[in-house]
Amino acid sequence: MRKKIVAGNWKMNKNFQEGVELAMSIQQRLNNYDGNCLVVLIPPFVHITKIRELIHHPKIKVGGQNCHDKPSGAYTGEVSAEMLNSAGADYVIIGHSERRQYYGETNQLCYAKINQALDNKLIPIYCVGETLEERKMNLTFRVIEQQMREGVLGLDGEDFKNIVIAYEPVWAIGTGLNATKEQAQEVHAFIRQQIENQYSREIAQDTTILYGGSCKPTNAVELFSQPDVDGGLIGGASLNTDDFVNIILANQ
Ligand code: PEP
Repeated sequence: MRKKIVAGNWKMNKNFQEGVELAMSIQQRLNNYDGNCLVVLIPPFVHITKIRELIHHPKIKVGGQNCHDKPSGAYTGEVSAEMLNSAGADYVIIGHSERRQYYGETNQLCYAKINQALDNKLIPIYCVGETLEERKMNLTFRVIEQQMREGVLGLDGEDFKNIVIAYEPVWAIGTGLNATKEQAQEVHAFIRQQIENQYSREIAQDTTILYGGSCKPTNAVELFSQPDVDGGLIGGASLNTDDFVNIILANQ
């Protein structure tokens, strides 16, 4: 059975004290939660160790928003996968559209980062998704196929078993405009088929594929009800305890 996950990408929001407070209030609200959805809090790097220290809930993990593609060295301002792991992270987002857009991250760079993450026992959450122009030009499947092939499908099957995929249509991120459940399901099924073609039906069926893009308590139930949608990568709504917890509760 594949894992259900709701992950909260805080992006560059919340100072240290606010971040600790948010993590604690989410933990408190989930005190009696014994559902089968795993929760991943993905704060800015500097919050990770403290939040990891304060989390005692078996269903809550912590992740980083990015890591470098090299193990160590003269890369001022960067953070390695090993550092993240040693700071207490279990997960790391790779290839978020904001990193692709603002920092020029390519599929090839993502592949190198994913290898670093795996070498350091982190579970990569690899993000793929088309822009509005690409969707309008009917290029969605071509773009996703290439992001999958170049970014992650070069791994061997054993390594791929540790990958989480997030389908995040760029036009839906932070815009308030979510994909419909049909649009999400269609792309998730396509991604799962790519994985099956490359590896096996078993590996494809076991892969967690998250939806991201303006997911909120009001649309989470219908998005998560789709057979190939295993949860969400949540941006804006993960900064509010009530919204985030309600999204987690929607992932049955
Ligand atoms: C994201 O940044 O991964 C995201 C899905 O953002 P939002 O939920 O705010 O659209």
